[in-house]
Amino acid sequence: MSTIPYKIYLEESEMPTKWYNVRGDMKKKPAPLLNPATLKPMTIDELSGVFCRELAEQELDDTSRFIEIPEEIRNFYRMYRPSPLVRAYCLEEKLQTPAHIYYKFEGNNTSGSHKLNSAIAQAYYAKKQGLKGVTTETGAGQWGTALSMACSYFDLDCQVYMVKVSYEQKPFRREVMRTYGAKVTPSPSMETEVGRKINAEFPGTTGSLGCAISEAVEAATTQEGYRYVLGSVLSQVLLHQSVIGLETKAALDKYGIKADMIIGCAGGGSNLGGLISPFAGEILRGENNYEIIAVEPASCPSLTRGRYAYDFCDTGKVCPLAKMYTLGSGFIPSANHAGGLRYHGMSSVVSELYDQGLIKARSVEQTSVFEAAEMFARVEGILPAPESSHAIRVAIDEALKCKETGEEKNIVFGLTGTGYFDMVAYQKYNDREMTDYIPTDEELQVALSKLPKVD
Ligand SMILES: *Cc1c(COP(=O)(O)O)cnc(C)c1O
Repeated sequence: MSTIPYKIYLEESEMPTKWYNVRGDMKKKPAPLLNPATLKPMTIDELSGVFCRELAEQELDDTSRFIEIPEEIRNFYRMYRPSPLVRAYCLEEKLQTPAHIYYKFEGNNTSGSHKLNSAIAQAYYAKKQGLKGVTTETGAGQWGTALSMACSYFDLDCQVYMVKVSYEQKPFRREVMRTYGAKVTPSPSMETEVGRKINAEFPGTTGSLGCAISEAVEAATTQEGYRYVLGSVLSQVLLHQSVIGLETKAALDKYGIKADMIIGCAGGGSNLGGLISPFAGEILRGENNYEIIAVEPASCPSLTRGRYAYDFCDTGKVCPLAKMYTLGSGFIPSANHAGGLRYHGMSSVVSELYDQGLIKARSVEQTSVFEAAEMFARVEGILPAPESSHAIRVAIDEALKCKETGEEKNIVFGLTGTGYFDMVAYQKYNDREMTDYIPTDEELQVALSKLPKVD
């Protein structure tokens, strides 16, 4: 019997006191955000009109390697962190693999995912700046839930524009948000200029994430004392999510374990970026080597089939341009896609690391993702979020490869959250109604041909 426990907990005193900014160790930095009107890099003043000042500074800071985590945020982290690093003994047994599998579990809070790590930081800086509140969009509701918890902790107003179809069909996360005091508005609404315009143009539309972003940005810029916040993609979000990687690294070091492979699911890239940051830093400084794999849905393959180019972050084209691996801001995954991770682009930090060859990417089909989710739930006890299950799929595939080669690799993956509110997707899988869809090159070309011209 090994001496490594099922759950490797850090002491509170071993929790990180600083976030790690991997951009500080990158020789070639991610490309800057551009002002869509002038095509010049966004200045701190321009960004501060939309984001809180300190968050805008973090967004533009590509040199500081470490940034102090304010004590108020560390106190909040203590309520649900450090999160456990779990040795997946039962999964290893099931697979009969010589590999050692570990997962970092971020689902142990009411929002059910890692998103709270950045929500609390963003709410803190908004409060510190003396703002009245923040606005945001949410699709299925994970980010909105995390933000509403964070805002209620700091007594900030929280206005969430929720894609109308989710607002109507997924009432549970909506009610969690309202319980934490957030105002949840189905988008497109009649409360914003852009919402009224879209409703007039497309009567009866059920909304989209891109449209909800445009409404949330308008709401932030037209109300005194409000700013807009975003739960993924941005470099500031990756910075906050570095607590995941720092804790993982500290826990592995505590037991003298050297990871060989690190796997994370990638939607906008925030959990993956946060998990891998300290490890990528060691690679960049020439201290160590790791195999890092980003996993994305085959139906929304921004890294594996997208283009590395400047693109709009939102469908409404109100946000700055970011250079990233993208499928085009008009790309919408096929209707049968149920597994989350549906954003058209990828964090510019993750994109640049991928472009430099530090990260590999793999795409997986959703029925195989849910097969992995089902196996994991049955042996490890946790019902995983569909998003997280993309990482589980590849961790299992890699462990099975080790079975063939006899290698005792240490495989670490990010288990970003729980799937209790995703039971409609599970139902489709259980009823054998789930299908796979891989877009053709021609289909991808439609949105890619509309990338903005920047050179
Ligand atoms: C939002 C979310 C993701 C994807 O977002 P990233 O920014 O790519 O991390 C993954 N897992 C869960 C549970 C989520 O809620």
